[in-house]
Amino acid sequence: MPFSATPPEGLVTLSANARTVLEKRYLVKDKSGKPVEKPEDMFWRVATTVAEADRRYGASDGAVQAIAEEFYFLMTQRRFEPNSPTLMNAGRPLGQLSACFVLPVDDALSNGQSGIYDTLRSMALIHQSGGGTGFSFSRLRSRGSMVRSTTGVASGPVSFMQLYDASTDAVKQGGTRRGANMGILRVDHPDVMEFIACKEDLTKITNFNISVGITTKFMDAVKADANYDLVDPVSKKVTGELRAREVWDKMILGAWRTGEPGVFFIDEANRYNPVPHLGDYEATNPCGEQPLLAYDVCNLGSVNVGHYVSNGVVDWEAMRRDIALSTHFLDNIIDVNKYPLPEIDALSKRIRRIGLGVMGFADMLVRLGIPYDSAEGVEMGRKVMEFLDVEGKKESERLARERGAFPEWAQSIWGPDETCARDANGQRIRPMQLLRNCNVTTVAPTGTISIIAGCSSGLEPLFAVAFMRNQAGVMMPDVNEDFVAIAKAEGWYSDELMERIAKTGSVQHAEVPAKWQSVFNTANNISPEYHIRMQAAYQLHCDSAISKTTNFGFAATVDDVRAIYEMAYEMKCKGVTVYRDGSRDNQVLSTGATQ
Ligand code: UDP
Repeated sequence: MPFSATPPEGLVTLSANARTVLEKRYLVKDKSGKPVEKPEDMFWRVATTVAEADRRYGASDGAVQAIAEEFYFLMTQRRFEPNSPTLMNAGRPLGQLSACFVLPVDDALSNGQSGIYDTLRSMALIHQSGGGTGFSFSRLRSRGSMVRSTTGVASGPVSFMQLYDASTDAVKQGGTRRGANMGILRVDHPDVMEFIACKEDLTKITNFNISVGITTKFMDAVKADANYDLVDPVSKKVTGELRAREVWDKMILGAWRTGEPGVFFIDEANRYNPVPHLGDYEATNPCGEQPLLAYDVCNLGSVNVGHYVSNGVVDWEAMRRDIALSTHFLDNIIDVNKYPLPEIDALSKRIRRIGLGVMGFADMLVRLGIPYDSAEGVEMGRKVMEFLDVEGKKESERLARERGAFPEWAQSIWGPDETCARDANGQRIRPMQLLRNCNVTTVAPTGTISIIAGCSSGLEPLFAVAFMRNQAGVMMPDVNEDFVAIAKAEGWYSDELMERIAKTGSVQHAEVPAKWQSVFNTANNISPEYHIRMQAAYQLHCDSAISKTTNFGFAATVDDVRAIYEMAYEMKCKGVTVYRDGSRDNQVLSTGATQ
């Protein structure tokens, strides 16, 4: 039985900003570029497509219609949103619903599957469908080493990354967003110094974020001020050595100057690889929150946790129900997704990876009157993530009982004692649990979907209380509604104050009561230590990694950045991304203070 053609009647709470973004980028358009659907139609298109999967597991027509309606209100009431490709492509011919992919790059120009030019082609297909791609270039032989077939010399990982970058420019992502890439090189690759410096010129390799894959061995050498070995990836022979501190300092200087390279703590990520028998993590998706195997994919979705606070109280029961519904939604995506490559299709069904995360966390804290940079704030972060993780896994377990565990479950880190993957000391890595999905939780940046949901992004603090946002080329004003409501209720609101806040980028003004100055403290005024503490608190209960930017003021020193990188490593974060205010020209978000 087909679904009802029109969306169900009921409360829809989309803002004007959300409608603008959807119209500009996500709604189906006719040849003249005019939208042929309304935002409500788009959400119904997504809800019905995703609900279809239930039918495969025996749901009746009525049950499928009912779950479609639940999905519809989940999204239109801004309690949860799936990643952008799901909104753009569900129920349309392309049908590719995932944001993140990792492709292998083998040390061959072409080997019919994953040589440099084979993967270049795969990358183009994924970008065309709106997905972002991550690559490790660590398998490529270093620049200057011999190429036997031609007796020439190899041009090395950086030159091939430039090739991928140029191709990304040529294929605009699904016509809606620019292709995004992550390039990773291991710190023991002979070309690591060239890699670290390759984005010093900000006009180069602009479609890539880059991160260095940092090993425990390397960090031990930094601590001991020792040298470490560089290893040729093809011959596996040691080709030289470098002083670890020199390399570490060079990365930190780069991060201080431009925010790049980031670091990916590759051994820490691999410790929690749920399916190590299928391969190691070598790379992450473009924004770094999702380590993936070769040909691995993840569809992300985020619960708007600020939604569940009213009158200073969290409605944990309502959040619990929505976490279950969101997990169900993401699991369904795996079945209705049209993957761009057969290898990806096959792996996605063997491990059924999903990434449920949060957005609106800063709003939640504001509504509870808790400053982000406080012990209480960090504890709330830990608690929310634990809740999401535990409840998401309960639903994944329920789905496993109903639909079957993911096929690789027994050998995974969640499997039974006799068969499960173990760490080097023979210990279990995770407790046994029957699960439908090898990975349940990931915290994404939620760059666009947080605008659609009208909430703060990911687990980030408020960026500003009043600011101009550059969204797809349109400057949109944004004021924090909680702040305005409190200011009006307490009688200290004025338009002039809001202008001053937008101009200075800060709420530290005399008429703002001290309590609200700390509760509404914004990203640039929060100390980098608190950014990392919050990231580490979330990491404790997150299967994958966390998308988090640690903000520094323009005046921060290189030593400040070094301290944060070392703190992140000690606190077992899986990566670090820093951004020093004003260090790049084209900021997506801007307050008056930096422009
Ligand atoms: N991503 C991408 N291109 C973009 C933005 C994001 O390919 O322009 C991918 C990338 O893998 C990133 C993931 O989508 O890590 C999630 O990003 P975000 O949460 O900001 O996406 P949204 O769903 O909000 O658009």
